[in-house]
Amino acid sequence: MDADTAPREADARAVDTLAVHAGREDLAGLGLHAPPIDLSTTYPSYDSRGEAARIDAFAATGEAPEGPPVYGRLGNPTVARFESALAALEGTEAAVAFASGMAALSAVLLAQHAAGHRHVVAVRPLYGCSDHLLTAGLLGTEVTWTDPEGVADAVRPDTALVMVESPANPTLAEVDLSALAAACGTAPLLVDNTFATPVLQRPALSGARMVLHSATKYLGGHGDVLGGVVACDEAFARRLRQIRFATGGVLHPLAGYLLLRGLATLPVRVRAASATAAALAARLAADPRVLRVHYPKVGGAMVAFETLTDPHEVIARVRLITPAVSLGSVDTLIQHPASISHRIVPEDDRRSSGVSERLLRMSVGLEDIEDLWSDLDRALGDVPPTPVASRPAVAEEARFARV
Ligand SMILES: *Cc1c(COP(=O)(O)O)cnc(C)c1O
Repeated sequence: MDADTAPREADARAVDTLAVHAGREDLAGLGLHAPPIDLSTTYPSYDSRGEAARIDAFAATGEAPEGPPVYGRLGNPTVARFESALAALEGTEAAVAFASGMAALSAVLLAQHAAGHRHVVAVRPLYGCSDHLLTAGLLGTEVTWTDPEGVADAVRPDTALVMVESPANPTLAEVDLSALAAACGTAPLLVDNTFATPVLQRPALSGARMVLHSATKYLGGHGDVLGGVVACDEAFARRLRQIRFATGGVLHPLAGYLLLRGLATLPVRVRAASATAAALAARLAADPRVLRVHYPKVGGAMVAFETLTDPHEVIARVRLITPAVSLGSVDTLIQHPASISHRIVPEDDRRSSGVSERLLRMSVGLEDIEDLWSDLDRALGDVPPTPVASRPAVAEEARFARV
């Protein structure tokens, strides 16, 4: 990694301070306290020669234009506040926001493919649709799936990127990011940090060149905004801005406002929900109706567990917990990855990466732990009569699970 691509030195201030101040540094000078929302799609200018020069500069460099953004697809001041705040939290030079996490991943792939690099090395499991985007070749990607130990051998001179999630969706499998970054050589490492958030882990400081978020999840935090963002060095951010301008996957300014507001409470939300999640994981691990619990070392508010009772019945019986896909909201959600979030992944690939038919994925929210436990306890149903050891189907599936 050379000086241009090295992550900037992490802002000396703590994540809690950055969460409430980053992206808002100019507000007091403007005489404001809450960030303004700029909903303009276009920006008036009486100087078309000047605009021509600004458009030329953007087309040539991808550098965000100084002053008004010309047109809403080039940039937006409210979205820019969210981008600068997220970059500060992740410890990167820049961040580029998109309409969704998938729009963000697509832009990364398009930027690399346009540079002639179509080969991606990826570690399963990934979020179901990320897996699908790579596997189905919708953008012309050629993918080599491997485990973290196989990355060094899988990387080629034309490798566009190495992609990993840690903790991974939905099994919460973790990867040693520093070791993986070393194994990538000159190929850029993209870490999907949606589950850990910068509160628990800052992958750029471990050598990731790009850090991706589905901002829909913890960054927004209230289940009411779709968004995606890539935190990276300024050189790659410029290419992403050019792709975003030309392909149009922009984040709406209202979404940018909500995401910036979500960041302010990110540290307290993540820590509070993580404490409850860790306690629930411990109770589930001790429960005779549960075969196996996955809870990552880095912590976090996600718990995955395999049930001995029918997981579909658990989904049907929850009342306080909402049976729904997605995650990272203030309320607790549960879903069956093999049926929903990872349905689109081919069955064999799903199973071999640990997404068994018994697996449930729970996103723990901010409710009281006893209320959550009584809902789960009832939903798990009766203790199954047959001991685990004499159930060959269970033993077979347990082999695939990673803790
Ligand atoms: C949800 C999710 C995505 C996709 O994000 P969208 O905002 O739904 O497009 C990508 N990665 C992970 C880990 C996710 O959970």
